Amino acid sequence: MRRNIEIVTNERCTGCAGCYNACPEGAIEMILSNEGFYRPIVDRSRCTNCGFCIGKCPELSWETPLLSPPRVYAAWSRDDAVRLSSTSGGIFSELARGILDAGGVVAGCAWNKNWEPEHFLIQSWDEVEKFRGSKYVPSKIGKAFRTIREISEKGREVLFCGTPCQVAALGLSLSQKQREKVLLVDLICHGVPSLRAFQQYRDELFPEGLKSYWFRRKSNDASLNIRAVTQSERLYDSKFKKDPFMRAFLEDHVIMMDSCHDCRYQGSIRPGDITVGDFWGVPKQWSDWRGVSVILTNTLEGNKWIDLLQSKKNIELRETSFDIAASGNPKLLSGVVPKPFWRTVFMRQLSQGVPFMKLCRYYSPVLKLYRQIAFFLTRWRQGRVLPKLKKLILKFFLKNKKDGL
Ligand SMILES: Cc1cc2nc3c(=O)[nH]c(=O)nc-3n(C[C@H](O)[C@H](O)[C@H](O)COP(=O)(O)OP(=O)(O)OC[C@H]3O[C@@H](n4cnc5c(N)ncnc54)[C@H](O)[C@@H]3O)c2cc1C
Ligand code: SF4
Ligand code: SF4
Ligand code: SF4
Repeated sequence: MRRNIEIVTNERCTGCAGCYNACPEGAIEMILSNEGFYRPIVDRSRCTNCGFCIGKCPELSWETPLLSPPRVYAAWSRDDAVRLSSTSGGIFSELARGILDAGGVVAGCAWNKNWEPEHFLIQSWDEVEKFRGSKYVPSKIGKAFRTIREISEKGREVLFCGTPCQVAALGLSLSQKQREKVLLVDLICHGVPSLRAFQQYRDELFPEGLKSYWFRRKSNDASLNIRAVTQSERLYDSKFKKDPFMRAFLEDHVIMMDSCHDCRYQGSIRPGDITVGDFWGVPKQWSDWRGVSVILTNTLEGNKWIDLLQSKKNIELRETSFDIAASGNPKLLSGVVPKPFWRTVFMRQLSQGVPFMKLCRYYSPVLKLYRQIAFFLTRWRQGRVLPKLKKLILKFFLKNKKDGL
């Protein structure tokens, strides 16, 4: 019987690279699957069946830590330049500043030269900028966990920020001595969509190549915007709802990684010392279009770093309750996102090489119609569909009259 990570099914694997970083024989390779997610492949001729990879796979070996209830805050950086160029309140950058000031190293996710997210390690404040901003595509971990083990073994502080599955994997891979030097920061995570889908969307929409790309550009009307600038200086600005990639990810749910539909690292017990996310539904008195983060400090180490940033006056902190934070952010309660049946069809066609944009053009209107029918049927049962239908017909005729038809 095989005693390696071949026993982890595609539905459960998160592509965290914990196994890849653990294998002493170099028998594991991380490849991009046809669906567009990183997956381990075992070279059986090199595998000795030692089972190390199983022990370091969070899907098989991560146990929910026994933690006391977290301290919960609304928070933001006092440095406006940092806050405005970050996704929420810029707390990641302030933690990075703290670690760098202490002589440490920061590991985070940046775009590589092929416009694909990848985890890098940096040692200076100037480089933190490239980590800013959420990239809604899987990040390639590469050998980052091994390097972090080496650095922390030598007694140097390291900050690692990533999705909770990556954080759980790094946590598992560290010895007690190394763990004491590593500050783990997990993001509240809705899930990651397919990198193949993103590559096709990118190449079809921006054939001249990208100069910059932001999934979340801030604007004072509080809408979520994508901004891309191409090599020929062409500007692409789109609201989330209008962008085909974000629609397929967040609205149609057809390109999210399988394991993200039932994620075991979400909820109130988290793998990081600190959890950072967007404070959706932030209480009115703290609401600000420049961005507000929600922070959970899950361990004493987490408390220590947040207290330090506050004492240095780098961040503004407002204590709040878990219930308030979770009311606008369902991922703090559960990792389950229902998987629509059409995901399988969409993904199969994407894997078979049907271009992403073509699939969107075909599926998006069908799925929209399906959702509308489902909505009407639900309302019908509640006896509210007829008034709604009347209102729609009336609106249609009034519009036509106004247009002079
Ligand atoms: C895929 C994904 C899904 C998310 N879903 C939610 C959600 O449902 N609810 C919520 O409240 N918040 C979510 N977030 C977190 C949120 O978008 C912000 O990242 C968070 O609020 C921190 O913001 P910040 O202003 O402190 O820092 P920022 O500077 O914006 O954060 C950047 C940090 O995020 C890390 N990062 C960026 N992209 C990736 C990636 N692809 N993989 C791993 N790490 C990455 C970088 O390493 C960096 O450390 C998600 C983030 C990601 C990457
Ligand atoms: S069982 Fe051992 S040798 Fe085989 S893939 Fe896993 S870690 Fe590598
Ligand atoms: S360690 Fe991560 S990448 Fe490897 S099998 Fe487990 S979940 Fe998949
Ligand atoms: S939803 Fe869960 S499995 Fe998916 S990327 Fe986020 S932490 Fe990993």
